[in-house]
Amino acid sequence: MTAAEIPAAILAEIPGPIDPPHRLLMGPGPVDAYPSVLRAMSARLVGQYDPFMTEAMTQTQALWRHVWSTTSPACVLVDGTSRAGIEAALVSLIRPGDRVLVPIFGRFGHLLAEIAERAMAEVHTIETPWGQVFAPSAIEEAVVRVRPTLLALVQGDTSTTMLQPLAEIGEICERHGVLFYSDATASLGGNPFEADAWGLDAATAGLQKCLGGPSGSAPLMLSERAVEVVRGRKRIEAGIREAGDPQSADFVRSNYFDLGMILDYWGPRRLNHHTEATSMLYAARECARVIALEGRQAVIDRHALAGAAMLAGVAATGLTVFGDVAHKMSNVVAVEIPDGVPGDLARAAMLTDFGIEIGTSFGPLHGRVWRIGTMGYNARRDAVLTTLAALEVVLRRYGVAVPPGAGVEAAAALYSDGGPGDGAAG
Ligand SMILES: *Cc1c(COP(=O)(O)O)cnc(C)c1O
Repeated sequence: MTAAEIPAAILAEIPGPIDPPHRLLMGPGPVDAYPSVLRAMSARLVGQYDPFMTEAMTQTQALWRHVWSTTSPACVLVDGTSRAGIEAALVSLIRPGDRVLVPIFGRFGHLLAEIAERAMAEVHTIETPWGQVFAPSAIEEAVVRVRPTLLALVQGDTSTTMLQPLAEIGEICERHGVLFYSDATASLGGNPFEADAWGLDAATAGLQKCLGGPSGSAPLMLSERAVEVVRGRKRIEAGIREAGDPQSADFVRSNYFDLGMILDYWGPRRLNHHTEATSMLYAARECARVIALEGRQAVIDRHALAGAAMLAGVAATGLTVFGDVAHKMSNVVAVEIPDGVPGDLARAAMLTDFGIEIGTSFGPLHGRVWRIGTMGYNARRDAVLTTLAALEVVLRRYGVAVPPGAGVEAAAALYSDGGPGDGAAG
């Protein structure tokens, strides 16, 4: 085959423009995007210093201040998936050699510890069994013992479905002079999050969970105190380095994730750093606009209702719920796979026969539980009821004696008084 013939050979295998199948994404994320977010992403591109673009960036910052519940001007997007936001926060706030405390209650705590280690921190961890969260006193005790400069704590860990209470943690950090960072990727938008009231210094997220967008943009907020820490690192501006050893702890060990440079790009000086990912900016702007339009509390209530309906539904179906339900995120539930049911085959049947995706699990829970999400655009009555109906059929196929219609009825009952958030906007 000549080089000239290769495109024809490739195209012969490709039926046409991308044409994904219809899916209802009811796993722990990613989930279906709000239709208006998909429309926003197909909008025309403009140059990165076009007044329209810089204005869109400013609007996006204002909208995200609302989502984060902060008055801090330092709300930006990091271009990349959620872990790009995590990495930017940690690599910019941690100086090599700093002590960092990471309480771990699931997979993503291990990720924070790993990223902090790569940022050359001295990392200390405490752990709680999967399915539980930490009491504030346990965290304070570790803070006193370790005396970290930074506490890195996941809010909602999708691997276990648990929601770590954060409301009292900021005060503890304040008392002991510790910076407080949280990864709110899985929880933001579907559960309460109050950056200012709870004393957060830094927080990051991604769009593909309760925020109803695609993965690929990481919203990030910094408090004034965190901005000072970031500004305390040596600067590199337009390629010119401040005097000092570039390998010293004074410099952030990344260009892409140097929040000082990212803040300068988003700030009034608009100093060139990267080229803002235009279509992802449009998506992140629209995700936050959907929340502002519907109302932040109304969106949280809609997730609470969908989560309660799904929980009632899986329980009435006869499935055992994993973990401490009192501390569960409202947007995802883990259920034990009944004895004798081949977990992966049953999930595959959900996908091929019904077009519905539910989630598998990691680590100690792998093969033990499925995770079912009700997030963002999919925190809707029809999505909940359709998933429960399909699950019932598939479970019966694998020999589980499911009471007919019980799951759907139990979930529908929660919606019967036409409570808040029947459906989703967007
Ligand atoms: C889903 C999730 C992530 C995902 O990170 P990506 O880089 O977007 O894949 C990170 N943190 C938490 C807590 C999550 O639940």
